[in-house]
Amino acid sequence: MKVAIITGAAAGIGAATARRFRDDGYRLVLADIDVSGAEAIAGELDALPMRCDVSDESDVAALIDAAMKAYGRIDCMINNAGILGAVGPIGKTPAEDYRKAMSIMSDGVFYGIKHASNAMEDGGVILNTASIAGIGAWSNHSYTAAKHAVVALTRSSAVELAPRNIRVNAVAPGNVVTQITISLTGSEEAAVERAMSRNPLPHVCTAEDIAASFAFLAGSEARGITGQVLVVDSGLSAIPIPAS
Ligand code: NAD
Repeated sequence: MKVAIITGAAAGIGAATARRFRDDGYRLVLADIDVSGAEAIAGELDALPMRCDVSDESDVAALIDAAMKAYGRIDCMINNAGILGAVGPIGKTPAEDYRKAMSIMSDGVFYGIKHASNAMEDGGVILNTASIAGIGAWSNHSYTAAKHAVVALTRSSAVELAPRNIRVNAVAPGNVVTQITISLTGSEEAAVERAMSRNPLPHVCTAEDIAASFAFLAGSEARGITGQVLVVDSGLSAIPIPAS
């Protein structure tokens, strides 16, 4: 039996990843600040739901403890919870918005790596949800800074944890239609249209596409991969910079 913890599991990419990992035979601990959402998906997948605010270190420590008490091991930790944060010029970005984005997506990933790796005794896999904003830039400064931190933590912890056979990787999605992109565009149709108008491939990545990448990185076929960022964005980040 393999055990995986997923944060931000109540919706979107986290929920799709929970379904995929359940299909792949994992026992799951599904964490979210939205406890009723976590309970709903945990009921569907015979998993353990946990209320967890990933920006609070004691919540993340309690999540790891609960997984160890329930199953006695953690094979895979997926630090996925995230928010959109304020979109707009840096001169108008409120400091509290910047702090909130950093506390959930940077501090939250730091706490997840720290406490999960402390509990992993026979190796393991830690996966983080980055973004193409974490390898380039986007006009949402709080989000971009937080996702760069996710990539940085993925790389720095991967090398340190490698001798303990703990692999740490990230997936960097482009535009995936979830509540985050719908809140940006106003509707699901507008989110699809926005993605289709930008993506080189005539495909809008789905939450299941991201889940499949997590499943690959968690599995033994990825045993030689650590400290890497797998970009899943229908080619968006590969668009060449225009020659002036
Ligand atoms: P979503 O809004 O559907 O899901 C995010 C989940 O995180 C929600 O269930 C929410 O309740 C939870 N969450 C928010 N704050 C939390 C906190 N403090 N503690 C615990 N849980 C919290 O959005 P999604 O698109 O599925 O987002 C999942 C991840 O994917 C995020 O890290 C996001 O930045 C990243 N991402 C999404 C896209 C996209 O296009 N949708 C692109 C790149 C990266």
